[in-house]
Amino acid sequence: MADDDTNSSTSSLFSFPSSTTISAAENNNVRCVGRSGNCVTWGCTSVIGLRKEMEDAVKVVPGFMMRRCNHVGGCIAAPPSDALAPVHFFAVYDGHGGAQVAKFCELRMHEVVAEEWDQETVAEDEWHHKWEVILARSFERADNEILTNAVASEMVGSTAVVVLLSGCQIITSNCGDSRAVLCRGTETIPLSIDQKPDREDELARIEDQGGHVIYWNGARVFGVLSMSRAIGNFFF
Ligand SMILES: [Zn+2]
Repeated sequence: MADDDTNSSTSSLFSFPSSTTISAAENNNVRCVGRSGNCVTWGCTSVIGLRKEMEDAVKVVPGFMMRRCNHVGGCIAAPPSDALAPVHFFAVYDGHGGAQVAKFCELRMHEVVAEEWDQETVAEDEWHHKWEVILARSFERADNEILTNAVASEMVGSTAVVVLLSGCQIITSNCGDSRAVLCRGTETIPLSIDQKPDREDELARIEDQGGHVIYWNGARVFGVLSMSRAIGNFFF
């Protein structure tokens, strides 16, 4: 992902000073990419590998919401603006057992996230907390809709990694072991932490709920699932 206005995007996108640590003079020099009206430049590629059916899905929705940048991500540019700026949606869904759950997420997740944003009553100034609530609830709601609509058998599931790009922030959320990584020059910066069955906290959570992790070509829940969380997979 990159913004058209790459010369100015680096400082405003990738530094996160709080309002207490940036002077007014400095603040006037920080541009909000979201207010520039430029679109994002993006690309994607998928490789099917050895499987007969592609079980993964990618979804990109530039400008999937128009909101005040300060409300979705604590805009660091001055002066504050009431102008609406685009928020961009990027997601990868790594399906397993079939493609149905990944395809459902591809069609539905961005709509659910936008609906949850509008319904959530957490003050928009508390944008960190608001995104935590919204993304957790969006994943849970997609999971419930898949069950309610009998989208797939109980053995079919998908990971999800969602990235929301506002003018001033990158917000990421993941379920399972798909990753978001920020590449900046020669640096690679992880933006998500895999949820794997042999992670200490995840192993404890699985066992507390009566599950077991069996090592069968790596750590797997009941010897099957190689990630500790997924959308779908109601058998687990
Ligand atoms: Zn901004």
